[in-house]
This record gives sequence, structure tokens and C-alpha cells, in this order.
Amino acid sequence: MAQPATQREILCNLFKSTNPLRTDVLETRRLTSPRRPPNNDARHIVLSSPGLSYLPGQSIGVLPEGFDARSGKPQQLRLYSVSSATKGDYGDSKTVSTVVVRHFWDNEETGETSIPGVCSNYLCDCEVGDRFQITGPVGKRFVLPADFHQRDLIFVATGTGIAPYRGMLEDMFAQGYEGKVFLIFGVQYADTILYDDEFQSYQDRPNFRYITALSREGERNPFPDDVPTPREKMYVQVRIWQHREEIGPSLEKPDTLVYQCGLKGMEKGVFQVIDKIGTEMAEPDLSLRMKAEGRMLLEVY
Ligand code: NAP
Repeated sequence: MAQPATQREILCNLFKSTNPLRTDVLETRRLTSPRRPPNNDARHIVLSSPGLSYLPGQSIGVLPEGFDARSGKPQQLRLYSVSSATKGDYGDSKTVSTVVVRHFWDNEETGETSIPGVCSNYLCDCEVGDRFQITGPVGKRFVLPADFHQRDLIFVATGTGIAPYRGMLEDMFAQGYEGKVFLIFGVQYADTILYDDEFQSYQDRPNFRYITALSREGERNPFPDDVPTPREKMYVQVRIWQHREEIGPSLEKPDTLVYQCGLKGMEKGVFQVIDKIGTEMAEPDLSLRMKAEGRMLLEVY
């Protein structure tokens, strides 16, 4: 029998735009090689968070100081996924962390290219001691269920979409997790893998499987007919197919949850590959059934 996720009480909107929380930057560090260009500059940022309770899988809102140079209006709120465990990085429930990559965009109307995104660059440039306002937490769908302890979990991430899994894994292992968890993580280069040392430190756990997909390190997709990817790039969905003998038994269980966080583009490929694995198990619409049963969780943009 399928077991949809059991919800727990989740607090939301403890701080809103009308009553934001003033936060101090306690720590900021680059997670990717400094040799990489600015669009690969991802930072781990630890903020003070007195009074803010949250769960990994929720997001905080950031209100950068100052005014938008283009519009002249006060900066708008942007949401960032929490990347810390429930107790925060210092274990005292007084901090919240996030991970941010510098964003650049092209203005099709003016033809201007590589325009720095306001909030991501603000956060990446901030220094210890800087202060700004945050809101939150928000989001109820992407957290771990109350009864995660024995479920198998398949965490799929691209880029900064890794944020929620960092905190979830810490919480799970601290709370005696007994299921099997797969972390399948796609980034461009070996030296842009976020939090790699932390995930490596779990490798001696028999119930943790860590699989990376590096799209720009020269490894080609060996299954372009089964799992097509542009220019035969190595993407997370290719890895899922490649490791189907290991992942398949977990997908077959009626209480397994699949989480996807990161780029919107990965969603289609991941569903297709889950259905392909389902077909081998005589269940071609496996992803549809998992969705209908609330066992397919998505946080993609
Ligand atoms: P990125 O570096 O642009 O991409 C990460 C990896 O995904 C790269 O290897 C990329 O390959 C690959 N990829 C691209 N298209 C794919 C597809 N269709 N299927 C599978 N893999 C694909 O990622 P990023 O700049 O960190 O952006 C992450 C996204 O996650 C953003 O859109 C962000 O809004 C979203 N997000 C972030 C958070 C957060 O907390 N920060 C939470 C939820 C969602 P190539 O570049 O080589 O093609």
C-alpha cells in the first residue's frame, strides 16, 4: 500500500515584510574554485536568526539594503532555500544559512547582456558584520515528512538546488535515519560541487549513496538513445538510469519519496527516466502514480 508523506506542523511567516527580522552576516565563504568565472561563484552564507524557527526545505526572504539602481525603488524581496539543518550551522538554533550563486541575465529588449542580478550579487558581495532584513520561513511542501525515518529517499539536485538536502541529511542522520538515501547531484565542474566535503564525510554510512553528474568535464552520456540530453551531456537523469539497478529497488517500495530541487529543465528528464525504470518493473507510469500519491516533491525554477 502506498504511504503518502505524513505532514507535521510547519511554522510559516514568523517574520513578514511588515515585521522583518534584522540579521547579521556571521559567515560567508565561497564554495567553488576561485578560478571559475563569476557565474560559478557560489557562496555559503550564515545569518543570525533570533526567533526564526525553520525546517530544511523551507525558504527565507531576503530584503537587500538600499534601492534598485534601475527603478529607484526599494529592493524587492527574494526567496532563498535554507541550506542549514534545523539547529543551524552552530547547533544553537540561532542561525540560518543559505547558498547563493551570482546570477547574470540578458535584457532582450535592450540587447544588454550579462547584467548582474541584484539580490544574488548583493548576497555574494556581503561581508561578515553586514546587516539586512529577512522574512520567513515560507514553504510547507518540500520538507521531510514526520515519518521519514524508515523511508527510502531519492534526492535529486542541480546547482544551488542542493540547499535543502544539506540540512535534511544532517537532521536525518542526527535523528537515527534507517532508510536508504540517494543524493544525485548535477553541477558543471568538479570544482563547482557545492558542499562536496560534507557529503563525502557521510560516505562511510551504508545507507547513504552519493552520485555526482558533472556536465562539463568531458564525460559523455553513454545512453543518448535511452536518456537523451543536449550534446550528450552528463546530467542527473543519466546517472539515475546508469544506477537503476541500485535505485530501482527503492523506487519499487510504496513509501519511497523522490525530491527534485534546482533547474526547472531537469524535471522532465527525471520523470522520463523514472518511467523508464518503471517500465522495466512493469509500471510504465510510475512517476504519475508517485505524483498522485504525493511522493514526488518538486522545488524547481
Ligand atoms: P547550473 O549551474 O546552471 O546547473 C546545474 C547543473 O544542471 C549543470 O550541470 C547543468 O548543466 C545541469 N542542467 C542544465 N539543464 C539541465 C536539465 N535539463 N536536466 C538536468 N540537468 C541540467 O545551476 P545554478 O546556476 O546553481 O541554478 C540552480 C537553479 O536552481 C536556479 O534556477 C535556482 O533558481 C534554482 N533553485 C535554487 C534554490 C536555492 O536554494 N538556491 C532552490 C530551488 C531552486 P549545463 O549548465 O552544462 O547545461
